[in-house]
Amino acid sequence: MKYVSTRNNSKEYNFEQVFIKGLADDGGLYVPTSLKKYSTQELQELKKLSYNELSTEIINLFSSDFISKEELSSLIKNSYSTFREKEVVKLSNVGEIKLLELFHGPTLAFKDVAMQFIGNLYEYYLSKNNKKINIVVATSGDTGAAAIDAIKGKSNLNIFVLHPNNKISSVQRKIMTTVEEKNVFNIAIEGNFDDCQNIVKSMFADLEFSKSINMSGVNSINWARIIAQAVYYFYSYFKLDKETVSFSVPTGNFGDVFAGYLAKQMGLPIDKLIVATNENDILHRAISEGDYVSKEVKETLSPSMDIQLASNFERLIYYINNSDSKITADIMQKIKQNLYQIEKSNLDTIQKDFLSESCNEQETLDIIKKNYEENNIILDPHTAVGVGVVNKLSFNDCVVLSTAHPCKFPDATNNAINKHEKLPEELQYVLNKDENFQVLKNNTEEVKNFVKSKI
Ligand SMILES: *Cc1c(COP(=O)(O)O)cnc(C)c1O
Repeated sequence: MKYVSTRNNSKEYNFEQVFIKGLADDGGLYVPTSLKKYSTQELQELKKLSYNELSTEIINLFSSDFISKEELSSLIKNSYSTFREKEVVKLSNVGEIKLLELFHGPTLAFKDVAMQFIGNLYEYYLSKNNKKINIVVATSGDTGAAAIDAIKGKSNLNIFVLHPNNKISSVQRKIMTTVEEKNVFNIAIEGNFDDCQNIVKSMFADLEFSKSINMSGVNSINWARIIAQAVYYFYSYFKLDKETVSFSVPTGNFGDVFAGYLAKQMGLPIDKLIVATNENDILHRAISEGDYVSKEVKETLSPSMDIQLASNFERLIYYINNSDSKITADIMQKIKQNLYQIEKSNLDTIQKDFLSESCNEQETLDIIKKNYEENNIILDPHTAVGVGVVNKLSFNDCVVLSTAHPCKFPDATNNAINKHEKLPEELQYVLNKDENFQVLKNNTEEVKNFVKSKI
């Protein structure tokens, strides 16, 4: 499989470059030059597979020039052996809505599904290349924990995680900052998630710096994450045994829902992908009326979605403009100036596949309360947004991606129902353990210096 950048598709890359670099030198995101489209017959065959077998089939389409199918299969088996669910994900019911529980990995959010795989993919790469890699990643709370768990203790790899100081839940922070391995560094930035993401992007854009430290990225723009996430759309479709399925996806950086779009492009009969946002509703405004103008980031009960500029949206822009990288680069320039309004013809194309809605803070609390009272289930605030949006759109015949375990957000659930879920036994130690992180200003040079001083 060959890949190109969304901003210049005249140059081709292979999976190794795409995976290790994450972001193209021109600032664009990598996309494959072609996609396999499964026939109904082929989907029938895939339906018989276990989660691990299905992952192997799908991911192998994209990575076969990097890792053999046999090696991939054992790497995947190894990656998902850390999950509490044998089949990795689980479908459950909340009233008439289906939940796709994605939080049974080591750090209790859907990010583990891709990250456990990626951690082992780095190890595989380093077993063949005599190198030291430094991973730098921005997190709105869950990516960092998942990445740390996947990378900790691995040789020839360091990981630096930037989170917005005081803007993630304390449980989210503790899961990251109580890890003791010497290759793990937590940095709290005095700013919001977008600031963290911008610092990481400018570190990558400084090619001299990023090359000098062999910098690598595992943010949700990394194509390897997207393909690992596309798998659970297929898996849940097969389990439901219906002709078409729609998904409601609590959305921040547009990574998870883009994985659903990818599954649809590959022939999975998905009807609508519902983009569910909190009060940071730029994607809802964009998809419903074409208004892609960012505002100040608000802190909400669902911090992992407190994002204004959704990096992966660039991939959608590329596809709806018929893979034209010139147009995409021009639009990205407009977005940078905060001047992008989606053209009517593009908006019509987007609305064939996507619906959107947002939930405000009170609605999120009400949904947690209602579902606790009526269905005896505690929803985490992100999943609550996914459920709330489905209620608001009266679109109950759909699968809501349940992106985090409620125990990660005790303040939100205490606020709604005066109750919180306990952490699973094996994670309770984080609550009383010393934390280790460095607070730094919202300044790229300071972060660069910190990274250099540690490696
Ligand atoms: C990261 C995250 C999201 C948003 O996912 P994106 O891929 O960034 O859209 C939603 N919910 C939870 C719990 C998350 O950790």
